[in-house]
Order: sequence, then structure tokens, then C-alpha cells
Amino acid sequence: MAAKGDRLASELRGRLSPEARIYADLSSRRLYARDQGEPPRFVERVLLKQNIPDLVLQPELPDDVSAALRWARARELSVVPRGAATFGLGGAVPTQHGLVLDFSALRSIEEINLDEQTVTVLAGTRWADVAHALKPYGLALCTYPTSWFSTVGGWVNTGGYGVGSLAYGHFKDQIHRLIVLTPQGELKELTSDDPEFEYFIGTEGQMGVVWAVTLRVRRAPQKTTPILLQCDSVESAFALAHELLQEGFQPYHMKYLSAARIHEINELLHSSEAQIPERESLLIAFDEWESARACERWAVQSEITVSSLYHAYYLWHERLFPMRPKRLGPGMLASETVLSAEKAPEFIKKAEREGARFGVHLASEAYFVGDGQVLLLPAFTFNSRNVFSEFFVASLSLVLTRLGIALGGRPYAIGIWNTPFARAKFGKKFDELCAYKRKIDPDGLLNPGKFFALPAHWSSLMLRGLPLSIGLEIARLAAPLVRKFFDPTPKRYPAREPGRPPTAISPLLDLLEYNETLCSRCGSCVPVCPAYIYTKDERTTARGKLQLGLALLKGEKLDAAGAQALFYCMHCRACTDVCQSSLDLVPVWDELERRVEARFGKDHQKIEEFVRGVEAMQIMPGTEYVPPIVKVLEGVAYGHRDAS
Ligand SMILES: Cc1cc2nc3c(=O)[nH]c(=O)nc-3n(C[C@H](O)[C@H](O)[C@H](O)COP(=O)(O)OP(=O)(O)OC[C@H]3O[C@@H](n4cnc5c(N)ncnc54)[C@H](O)[C@@H]3O)c2cc1C
Ligand code: SF4
Ligand code: SF4
Repeated sequence: MAAKGDRLASELRGRLSPEARIYADLSSRRLYARDQGEPPRFVERVLLKQNIPDLVLQPELPDDVSAALRWARARELSVVPRGAATFGLGGAVPTQHGLVLDFSALRSIEEINLDEQTVTVLAGTRWADVAHALKPYGLALCTYPTSWFSTVGGWVNTGGYGVGSLAYGHFKDQIHRLIVLTPQGELKELTSDDPEFEYFIGTEGQMGVVWAVTLRVRRAPQKTTPILLQCDSVESAFALAHELLQEGFQPYHMKYLSAARIHEINELLHSSEAQIPERESLLIAFDEWESARACERWAVQSEITVSSLYHAYYLWHERLFPMRPKRLGPGMLASETVLSAEKAPEFIKKAEREGARFGVHLASEAYFVGDGQVLLLPAFTFNSRNVFSEFFVASLSLVLTRLGIALGGRPYAIGIWNTPFARAKFGKKFDELCAYKRKIDPDGLLNPGKFFALPAHWSSLMLRGLPLSIGLEIARLAAPLVRKFFDPTPKRYPAREPGRPPTAISPLLDLLEYNETLCSRCGSCVPVCPAYIYTKDERTTARGKLQLGLALLKGEKLDAAGAQALFYCMHCRACTDVCQSSLDLVPVWDELERRVEARFGKDHQKIEEFVRGVEAMQIMPGTEYVPPIVKVLEGVAYGHRDAS
């Protein structure tokens, strides 16, 4: 495989700009074989036998993408666009080896237009990047996903509901312009009134590659203020949400958290003093302090419990850390359905009963997204250490999606694992999408084996129509019996035993295995990592280092470039500070470097050059990194100067 990768790399190299980066080493390519999702190991093994790409390309110019698409077509290689790989349903996972187009390092604020209140960014720019860049100009994002560290191009291609969706609706309503490359390599500029525009929104990299996005933004709010209202039943929480909107309150964001979800958050809170009352809750954020106070007064008059401001702010901050409960599992899965708010209580109650049947507790959240709809997110932690219980309990995720559809909802996203539900998501529009796909990508070059059709392999039968329905029904019926033999109850990993050397947590649990298992591969640590910003090499990130470290522990081969990349680290703790799983990572890097040095030696000169390079870019934590801002257009209304 390595020889094939090298051959392909040298073929492609000559067609690209000198700045484009190609990764052909196995140590790099294997990091592109998965995304944030945690499918059961058994299913992954049988269904995704070709998930390691032949080659990875980080383009620097649209011409690089055009050339790569044309070359891949001639070579009959599939092409998979990838942002930060935080999607979780396998959208960025190859199913036929091929070429991965990695946009994660393509971070640039191309233009801030103060008059029009728009910002244009390249596809790999993170939500946090955009927010930081807008702040000095008194502007802010309208909506954003709670994956603050995912790419703008990634969200154009996936969900579209997140923080602020109650006030600003679906993300597509804020997209002013897209620059895309079709599978034929043709560059297109599309605005929202173009008939083709919508084919490129939420279609998960099936129709083309997004290069740049122009977003509408808003004046920064005075002060986003959250309040927390609590009720005794799920019905009363949703009735309260309805009443509050009827009263004329206009929150920026509103989400429901079940009592079980609050319990989970309490379990993760260190202080027993700060525990949040475990009741059905509504977290509501307003753009102005006064509106929040008015809503609070109304709630008090209506005899509704208003929780402390401390708890409200705590939960507001936690909105950006939804993967934290993985520490409790270590398995963690969810289902996502868009449903009418009216039906939500029925869904939540039935879903909790299904969870109990499978032996796990559901912890649910629901985002109010306008038009009387909610995005429901029931999640559960479980013992993923046993392969059978993992496979079995993972079917609950599909059972819940099916339940949402039965209640009139639609699945939120497709990827690989929800392909059987694609028609339920798009309804009549699905045939139109199929027709456009056939027209624009007749050879099925882009992102095959998902969304429209599963990989052509016998094992995909388990995710198809009738076999899937029968399988899920059997799983439901057998659940109460099966869980007696294979207990899915979360088996939380122990803390390090006192006196144990820093290389191990317990006699049986190695430090690297412990941290890799608890890592959710969420990618929060990628854009803040000075080593990554400088090298643009996924192997240098915490997410990459943990995966390679585990491979090393298992005795798998590591090439020289991979071994060297593991030394590229400033030990700056930026990864630890943002880690969704609250991992203490710097001691892990010390240990990993010790092991790599013992096996491969250490090139001190290269490390020295690396450190000098990082220092020269001034990207150490504390010197908040904002990607380059290419142009700021004069904003008469704001009196800013052109900073281009
Ligand atoms: C902690 C956490 C919180 C999350 N919160 C939310 C949330 O609030 N709302 C929500 O909707 N989702 C959420 N997600 C899911 C995920 O973060 C979003 O779907 C995100 O937009 C994916 O972006 P990405 O850059 O990671 O894309 P990837 O995972 O890399 O790719 C996703 C899909 O888009 C395609 N794609 C990526 N970039 C391009 C491109 N430039 N051109 C063409 N196709 C492309 C890929 O092929 C793939 O099919 C969350 C995930 C995590 C881990
Ligand atoms: S310690 Fe700093 S340089 Fe090292 S992996 Fe973490 S963020 Fe990157
Ligand atoms: S190390 Fe932490 S922040 Fe990085 S991917 Fe893993 S869980 Fe996420």
C-alpha cells in the first residue's frame, strides 16, 4: 500500500501548486480512516474494510482541487471531502480508499464587509476563528454548531441547527454565497437565489466541494444572558417553552435538558456544593440583560422555579462541551431527529422506555429551532469494552431514529450509518437530489458508499430496508434478556492508582490506552494546537498522537515520518484546556516521546527547527491565534478603517 501511495503522490504532485501538501505515509493516512463517530467495532470491521485512503491532499488553491478531481476521475479513485471530521456519522470516512481532500488547514478570513454585515471565509475556517475575527468590529455569528472547532465548510454540508437557531433559523438562511467545485473540477459561484444553490447545502459532500462561504452576520449582542427555568415533568417543560414564546419573549437560544441530562452533568461536576437541581429544565439565552430579567420576573409571577444564575451560566458554558459524558462510558452514542415541539414529550418518554429496555439511561437535550420544531438529541453512555454489548446497544441509536420518524419527525443527518433513513429525511426531494447527483457526478466519484447508497458489500445488508427493520425488532425484543449476560452499564475507568508510575493507570491499564479510549476524537484540540498550526500535520495534534500512540502500544508498525511527528509538541497544554473529555495530556506526551525515542531515536535538529518555526509564528497559547484576515471593507456605519 505504501508503494502505491508514493506512486500516486508523485503522479499528483506535478499537477498541484507548490504549497499544496500531500500525505502518503501510512501513519498519516490511517488518521483519516475514521471521524468522530463511534460505530461498533464489529460493524466497522466488516463494513468498512477500505476506509484508509490511498492519499490525502491539503489543497491551497481552487486549482489544486480542480486538478485533483480531474486526476482522480482519470484514475477511477473516489474523492472524500473532509473538514474537522467531527460529524460522527461517517460522512468524511472513505469507503473505497481513494483520495481525501482535507480542508482542515485551509483557514482564512477572506473578507469582512462591515456595510453588508457579511464575512467570507475559506472552507476550513473554524467557527471560533470567525467569532474571534468578527469581535473587534462589533459583529457576531448568527448561529453556530456547539462544535465550535468544526469547519464552516463542514456545516454547510451537514446539520444547520445549533446555538441561535431559535432566533435565526437554519444556517442555510445565513449563507449569502458559496464558491464550489463540481466533481468535474469546474468552479462555480452560487448565491441563494441560484436554483442549484440548495443542492450544495446539507448534502454531505455528495454534489461538490465547498471552497469558500460568505455568511451574513449580526451586530454583536449587548450581553448574552442565560436563565434556567425548571419543571417537574417533561410535558410542563415543553408547555412552558410554548407559553413563553406566546407571551412574546424572543430568546436568542432555548434548549430543553432532561433531569437525567442534568444528573449526568452533576456527575461530571467536581464540586458537590454546585450541584444543579435534577429536574426537567429549560436553558434560555437572551441577547439583552433586560429581556432575561423580564422573563425571569414573568416566570416568578407564574410560579415557575428559576434556578440560580450560577447554574444558568454553568450550563451556558457547557453548551460547547456536549461530549464530556464520554468519561462516564467510555462508550457514548446519540440519535438526532427533527420533530414538532408538540410531539417531543411523547418522543422523550418513549425513548427513555426504549433506553431502559436496552439497559442504559438516556440523557436528552432538545434545541428549539423555530417554526414549532425541535432538534432532539437523546444520548447514552455505555460499556464499550465488550464487543458484543457494544454492537447490541449501538442498535438503540437506530431504534430511536426510527421512533422519531414514526412520530412524524425526520433524521437530522445521514452519513454512512443513517443511509437507510435518507428518504425519510428528504421526503419527495430525495428523488430530485438523486437526479442532480446523477447529472453532476455520473461516475459517483464524490463520497461513495453512503447517503445515496451503502458500500456494495454483503455486510451492508444489515443496514438495508427489511433486514434492518427485522434486525432492530429482534434487538428490541431480545434486549431485556441480552443485557443480563452482557451488561451495558457504563464502566467508568478508575483514576490512577496511588503510587502507580506515570506510565500506567493500573496494572492492566496503560496510560496511552486509557487516554485514547476516553478521547472522543472530537477535534477540539486540533485548531488550537501550535504544532498543528505550524506543521498542518494531523499526526502532531492530540487526537492524532493518541491514535498513533495506541497503534504503537499494540505493536503496529510506525513509519519514520510518523515517529518524528510525535516529537512535534510544545507541551503548552492548549489541548488539555479545550479537551471535551477533560484529559490531562501533557504527561501522556512525555511518556509517548520517551517510548518513541527508545524505539526510533530522536532527531534533535528537526525538533529545534520546529520550535523555532512555532516561535516565529507567535502562535503559543496566550497569543490567541486568529487566521489571517485578508481584507476588511470600510464600514461607514461603524467608522472603521479599511484594514486590508
Ligand atoms: C462536540 C460536538 C458538538 C456538535 N454540535 C453540533 C451542533 O450543534 N449542530 C450540528 O449540526 N452538528 C453538531 N455536531 C456535528 C458536527 O460537528 C457538524 O456536523 C459539523 O458541521 C461538521 O463539520 P466538520 O468540519 O467536522 O465536517 P466533517 O465531519 O469533516 O465532514 C462532514 C461532512 O461534510 C463533508 N464536507 C466537509 N467539508 C466539506 C467541504 N469543504 N466541501 C464539501 N463537503 C465537505 C464531508 O464529506 C462529510 O460528509 C457536533 C459534533 C461534536 C463532536
Ligand atoms: S501540548 Fe500544545 S503542541 Fe502539544 S499537542 Fe497539545 S496543543 Fe499541541
Ligand atoms: S484529545 Fe480531547 S479535545 Fe482532542 S479529540 Fe480527544 S477528546 Fe477531543
